[in-house]
Amino acid sequence: MRQIGPNSHAEFYFLGCNPGYVMTSEGALLIDSPQRGIDALRYAEAIRESGPIRHIVNTEAHGDHVWGNSFFKDVPVVGSSALRREFENTWSGFGGPAGRLDRMKTGEAWLGDPESVWLMEQPDFAPHPPTTTFDDELTIELGEHTIHCLRMPGHTQGQTSVYIPAEGVVFTGDTIFHRCRTWLHDAEPWQWLDALDRLAELDVETIVPGHGEPCGKEYLSVQAQVIHDWLGVIGGFLTAGMTEDEVVAQETDACAEADPYPMAQRLWELRNELTELNIRNLYRQVAARESAMSPG
Ligand SMILES: [Zn+2]
Repeated sequence: MRQIGPNSHAEFYFLGCNPGYVMTSEGALLIDSPQRGIDALRYAEAIRESGPIRHIVNTEAHGDHVWGNSFFKDVPVVGSSALRREFENTWSGFGGPAGRLDRMKTGEAWLGDPESVWLMEQPDFAPHPPTTTFDDELTIELGEHTIHCLRMPGHTQGQTSVYIPAEGVVFTGDTIFHRCRTWLHDAEPWQWLDALDRLAELDVETIVPGHGEPCGKEYLSVQAQVIHDWLGVIGGFLTAGMTEDEVVAQETDACAEADPYPMAQRLWELRNELTELNIRNLYRQVAARESAMSPG
């Protein structure tokens, strides 16, 4: 657990996202939850030595940010309305609790969690979605802290940054992949670029990204460049008249050059799959935008 502000900590070495928290005089507000059950329970135990856990705010509904909610069943969860809808898709996409349990047992690099199976098999560890929702912004007062939940769609539609001015910290979820490969499979890339502009306006010293080490605002332009480069690569293929399947079928260095960073954590096996997912989403989005813009 690393201190990243006067009263803020985050964890950068769990399998899954980077969860964090701020400890106030009234207890802790958590940002996301550890993916693996065994990590979640150890993390909760450590935090509760300093105070009770009052809230979890989810930054997005991808599984590595929300699966761990199940291990905080007594803690109310906060998320944007769009995130609440995407939460359902995440669970159904992996076959609900039973499907998730199967994947945990198989030990697959990025979903395996055999040590936690006996925890997950308890009937109490069901999906734990947000019950407090907001459309675009929510301010939470806890102890002496003011915590701003700011929806910044792009990586997902429900994407939310948690901004804590007194700590000089913002938790962005996967709006930032710091020096690791960017997942654009669900993205609306132009909204994402707007989100990066909004982050630049916040008064923060430290950005806790969804994946990778903490960074400062200097990385915002690097993240934007990755998205611009992807859009450029896909736009070039469209101009050349290639179909979506032709782009996917072609083993291209151009896609890798758009994002030179390694896959985060244990996700290396998914590199080619991610390239295809990014191509398919961006191809459709760029094509739709071009046809909407072209006259006649
Ligand atoms: Zn994500």
